[in-house]
Amino acid sequence: MILKPIECPTCGEVDVVKHGKTETGKQRFLCQNPTCSRRTFVLLNAHKGRLPEVKKQIISMTLNGSGVRDISRVLCVSPSTVINEIKKNRKIATA
Ligand SMILES: [Zn+2]
Repeated sequence: MILKPIECPTCGEVDVVKHGKTETGKQRFLCQNPTCSRRTFVLLNAHKGRLPEVKKQIISMTLNGSGVRDISRVLCVSPSTVINEIKKNRKIATA
């Protein structure tokens, strides 16, 4: 498992600490940068590529002839996520 440093979405500072949970149970973080204008934030969909809805869109765009780069850009997922999904669904796509 690769851990990416957590960045403050407001100032880009990586010096952040955990700061409790939101009402919906998401981890909240506090930016340690004293000049930051926002300070607290929650991480957005870090694992968007795993959502079933995105997977469906990857397959449907593949069937419509879109390339890996297009799909990756439109759905905001990495090209490797797109390629993995295409490989997993190759049998369906060529049937
Ligand atoms: Zn900040």
